[in-house]
Amino acid sequence: MTRALAAAILVAVFGAPAAAQPQIDWSKLEIETTHLGSGVYLLNWQGGDSLILVEDEGVVLVDTSVAAMGEKIKAAIAKVSDKPIKLVINTHAHADHFGSNELLAKGGATIVAHETLRERMAKGQYLAAFNQTIPPSPPVALPTVTYTDAMVIHFGGETIQLFHPVGAHTDNDTLVHFKRANVIHASGTIGGDGGYPFFDMSSGGSLVGTIAAEEKMLSLSDANTKIVADEGAPASTADLKASRDALVTIRARVQKLIDEGKSVDEAVAAKPTQDLDARWVHQGSFLTGDVATRMAYQSLKGP
Ligand SMILES: [Zn+2]
Repeated sequence: MTRALAAAILVAVFGAPAAAQPQIDWSKLEIETTHLGSGVYLLNWQGGDSLILVEDEGVVLVDTSVAAMGEKIKAAIAKVSDKPIKLVINTHAHADHFGSNELLAKGGATIVAHETLRERMAKGQYLAAFNQTIPPSPPVALPTVTYTDAMVIHFGGETIQLFHPVGAHTDNDTLVHFKRANVIHASGTIGGDGGYPFFDMSSGGSLVGTIAAEEKMLSLSDANTKIVADEGAPASTADLKASRDALVTIRARVQKLIDEGKSVDEAVAAKPTQDLDARWVHQGSFLTGDVATRMAYQSLKGP
C-alpha cells in the first residue's frame, strides 16, 4: 500500500484531520531486487512490491503496481532474466496491484486472478476506504484466467498454489504459495513492515477473514517460510504466528467491549490494544492502536 493511500484511509474512514497527502514521484522510485530462493525474487520499492519466479520457460510476475511502474518492473526483471513474462498473478483489486496489467498483457502475458477481481476491474470501483474511484479497466488489462476457491499452476520446476481466503484484506484476495521456494505472497493479509494488517471493509475485507487467511498461511508454512506482504521486507513464520495471535487477542477484547454495549468511541478509549502496540505500531504509521481498534469494532459489529 502506498503512503498516499494510507493517508487517504485516515481521512475517508476514520475522519482524521486531512493531513497533506504525500504525492508519489514514481519516476524517482528505485526497485531493489532480492533473491528469496529457488528462482523467486522480491522486487521492492518504497511503499510496494512484486514477486517474480524465473524459470527457463519464462517469468511469472505477482502484482503489477501502478501503470507508471510497468516499464521499471520490466527493466528490473530484465536484469535477472532475458525470458518473456508469461504469467501475471494479481493478488487483489487495489489500484497499486494491477496498474501495469495492460502493458504486460500486450507484451504477451496471461493474467490470472480471482473471479471477483476480474469483476471489480471490469466494472470499476469506488473504494470508500481510500476515497478513491477506479475507472473500469480496458478489456486487455483483465485477467483471462480466473478461479473461485483454489488453483494450482505448474510452471517450470515450481508448483504455484493459489488460495482464495474469504473476505480477508478484500473480497478478491489470492494467497500465492511457491511450494519449492517456500515463499508465500500474503496479498494484504499481513501488515507491511510488521505492522497490524489493514482490511478494507469497503472491498469486503474483515478481521475474521484476515485471521482465517493467516491461519491458512500458517498451515502452509514451516520454520523457513518467507511471507511477503504488499510492502516491506518478508515476514517469518514466527512473525506470521505473532500477527495471528495479536489479531485473535484483539478480536476477543473488542468483542467483549461490543457485548458490554460500548460504543465505538468508548471501545477506542478503553485502549484494548495498548500492550500490543509497541510491537505492531511503527512510528509514523497510520495504523495506530486506535485505528486498529476502530477497524476491529466496525468489522465485528457490522453495519
Ligand atoms: Zn491492498
